[in-house]
Amino acid sequence: MTNWLLACSQCGSRRYLDVGFNLALYGGRIYLYCERCGRNTEQRVLGYVEEDGTFVRFEDIVRSRVRHGGETID
Ligand SMILES: [Zn+2]
Repeated sequence: MTNWLLACSQCGSRRYLDVGFNLALYGGRIYLYCERCGRNTEQRVLGYVEEDGTFVRFEDIVRSRVRHGGETID
């Protein structure tokens, strides 16, 4: 499981989402229900937290994929 940090594009509230798939494959944006907005909104993927607590920014995920010879995770 990966603990992703998301930010609502409408109200800006941040939340963690613990899922077993790679949200980076969705281009950094997904639609989810926002409790503060009371409806589905576009959520920006800010990054994820590793098991040791290190925060990895979304920009760094994309950059590391390029650095490893252009191979993609999917
Ligand atoms: Zn919201």
